[in-house]
Amino acid sequence: NTLSVSVLGLGAMGSALASALLKAGHETTVWNRSAGKADDLVAQGARAAATAGDAVRAGELVVACLLDHASVHEVLDPVAGDLAGRTLINVTTTTPEQSREIAAWASDAGIAYLDGGIMAVPHMIGQPGSSILYSGTEDVFQQYKPVLDLWGDSTYFGEDAGLASLYDLALLAGMYVMFAGFLHGAAMVASAGVTAREFAAMAAPWLTAMTGEFEGYAAVIDGGDYTVPGQQSLEFSDLGDILTASAEQGISTEAVAMVQGLIRRQIDAGHGAEGFARIIESIKQPG
Ligand code: NDP
Repeated sequence: NTLSVSVLGLGAMGSALASALLKAGHETTVWNRSAGKADDLVAQGARAAATAGDAVRAGELVVACLLDHASVHEVLDPVAGDLAGRTLINVTTTTPEQSREIAAWASDAGIAYLDGGIMAVPHMIGQPGSSILYSGTEDVFQQYKPVLDLWGDSTYFGEDAGLASLYDLALLAGMYVMFAGFLHGAAMVASAGVTAREFAAMAAPWLTAMTGEFEGYAAVIDGGDYTVPGQQSLEFSDLGDILTASAEQGISTEAVAMVQGLIRRQIDAGHGAEGFARIIESIKQPG
C-alpha cells in the first residue's frame, strides 16, 4: 500500500527516515526550516514543500524529526489546524514529560499521536540493528507498523506517550555509563603505553560477556531478596583497589568513585553481605 507521508525536519536523521520511505515507494513530501536540505531527497523522488503547512496537508501521515521539544512546538503549533484529523508520529528526542505534553497537545487538537525514540544512528536506518521504540496511541502503531518497520525493529510499550522516551533515555544511561567505564580502563592502561585500540580489543569481548550477568541481577531485583545465595556480595565488590591503582596512574578516579559511592552507601547501611544488585537501592533513593 502506497501512503502519502510527510517528513518535517531534514537533519541527518529526518533525511534517513525520508530516504527509507522513498525506497519503499511511498509518496513522500519533505520540509525543512532552512533551504537546501531537501535537494538529495528530491533527486530520490520526494516532493519538497515550501512551508510546514503545505507538507502537513500533503500527508495522511506526518513524521516530525526536529531538534527538540521546543522546535516541535515552534513548527507544529501554527499548523495544528491542518494536522487535525491526521496522524502525527514524533520521533524527535524529548524527555518523558515532554512527550506526554505533546501527546496532550495533539489530543486537544484532534491529532492521532504516536511518540518514538530512535535507537540508531542515521546510517543504520533500515539496516539490521536499528530499533525504534514507540508509545502513545496503539491504533496508530498497529495501522502504520509496516511503515515503521522500514526504519528498523519497531517495539510498542503502551498508551502512555512518555514510555518510549523513558526506555530510550534509560538505555542511553546504560550506554553512557558503560562507555565511561571503558574509557576509564583505557586511561588506566594508557599510562603504561597501551593504546586505546589494544585495550578495546580486550574490553569488547569482556564487557559483552559481562552482559550475561544482567539476567541474574534482574531476577534478584524482581524477586526483592538481595540475600539469595550465590551472589557476589557488596563487600567483595569493594572498588578500593581500582581507585588506588587509578590514583597511582595519576588519572581521575571520578568514574569509579561514582560506583564505589553507590556500593558504600549499602555497606554503611549494613547490607555488605548482600548481593551487588542491591546498589539499585542507592540509585532509587538518592543519598
Ligand atoms: P540535526 O541537527 O542533523 O537536524 C536537526 C533538524 O531540526 C534540522 O532539520 C533543523 O533544521 C531542525 N530544527 C532545529 N531547530 C528547529 C526549529 N526551531 N524550527 C524548525 N526546525 C528546526 O539532528 P538529527 O537529524 O540528527 O536529529 C533529529 C532528532 O533525531 C533529534 O531529536 C535527535 O535527538 C534524534 N536522534 C538522532 C540520532 C542521530 O544519531 N543523529 C539518534 C537518535 C535520535 P535546520 O536545517 O533549519 O537547522
